[in-house]
Amino acid sequence: MSEDRIPGFDTLAVHAGAQPDPTTGARVTPIYQTSSFVFDDADHAASLFALEAFGNIYTRIGNPTCAVLEERVAALEGGTAAVAVASGHAAQHLVFYTLMEPGDEFIAARQLYGGSINQFGQSFKKSDWNVVWADTDNIETFENAVTPRTKAIFVESIANPGGRITDIAAISKVAKRAGVPLIVDNTLATPYLCQPLEHGADIVVHSATKFLGGHGNSIAGVIVDGGTFNWTRENRYPLLSEPNESYGGIILYETFGNFAFAIACRMIGLRDFGPTLSPFNAFLVLNGIETLPLRMQRHCENALAVAEFLSNHPKIAWVNYAGLPGDRHYNLAKQYCPKGAGSVFTFGVKGGYEAGIQVVSNVYLFSHLANVGDTRSLIIHPASTTHRQLTEEQLSAAGAGSDVIRLSIGIEDKDDLIADLNTALESVG
Ligand SMILES: *Cc1c(COP(=O)(O)O)cnc(C)c1O
Repeated sequence: MSEDRIPGFDTLAVHAGAQPDPTTGARVTPIYQTSSFVFDDADHAASLFALEAFGNIYTRIGNPTCAVLEERVAALEGGTAAVAVASGHAAQHLVFYTLMEPGDEFIAARQLYGGSINQFGQSFKKSDWNVVWADTDNIETFENAVTPRTKAIFVESIANPGGRITDIAAISKVAKRAGVPLIVDNTLATPYLCQPLEHGADIVVHSATKFLGGHGNSIAGVIVDGGTFNWTRENRYPLLSEPNESYGGIILYETFGNFAFAIACRMIGLRDFGPTLSPFNAFLVLNGIETLPLRMQRHCENALAVAEFLSNHPKIAWVNYAGLPGDRHYNLAKQYCPKGAGSVFTFGVKGGYEAGIQVVSNVYLFSHLANVGDTRSLIIHPASTTHRQLTEEQLSAAGAGSDVIRLSIGIEDKDDLIADLNTALESVG
């Protein structure tokens, strides 16, 4: 490729961050399955530990296979740097550890992955990081939740499990007025469908377990630094703007500028908490990303066909798919995800909880399990599984009421998927 050409998204998905292995010529990024790396000499070792030079030390804080994944996801999202970690939840934990002090607050959409509702509402409390819930369908609830202790706003681009589309630009305005970063969980959209940084987000997180890896074979997470935020503001983010004792008193934002947030997540968060991605899993996710554009096209095309079939079926009460004309999020989907509204969405069967159980018990091609973003089509009844810990009020707020079934449409033949759901629906009532 000539030096002056800016590569397109599909080219970046295959090539960004990777080059033939300099010692062996291996074309595919090797799995550098090693815990540690030999220093050139004592001075080299000292400079690595002082953050004066970049290089490999120990896989807990960085690894060459993981580094290719980091560069690739940063390129696809349009960020300045990325940090690969062991899971999507580890990514969220390190992001908030970097931003929050005990007693601080952050605002999060109610429309979130069930596990994130637990992490924010229950486990973060132990560190005195306090979530305030808001509603993506009512931007004022974000505005009204801002206090002097607010340190961040967190939303999902396409919200799990309801398949709603978030007005990222509108919420970014609230974040900017409050002087806090907007964090977007872009797991369900992937950068192929939506690039949150273009709409005013400052940090993007991923569960790479889902569409990025795409084959249901590894747990992984990524943090992307947008490079957009001024971390010195009122000294609200001491980890970034105050001298760091463990690195000879350097100030991370002063030294690393527009990728200081990623450095803090790695050189403090990953170093001290240790949720490291294994090089083997990084390799699998990298392989998945090469076909991300192709898979997402097929995921979206199949999802639309299945949603159309369901919306015309007499036993279906409603379908919530933002790709369907007439859906209340259709216009937001056109704005934020013009190439397709993703492949995770929900529907309700007439007959409620019992009918929902009937459907998930009578599919053959769909797998009944708790995951999304696989090549295989997946089905789950959130009220009896992923979201069963939530109250009735939280269930409906999260788009997971008792009649709700969530689908993650795979890349099989769409006619086979429709036939499978048709058979399952025949078993109802
Ligand atoms: C799965 C998921 C997570 C958590 O990711 P893990 O890799 O399972 O830790 C977070 N957000 C969303 C939207 C998810 O789908």
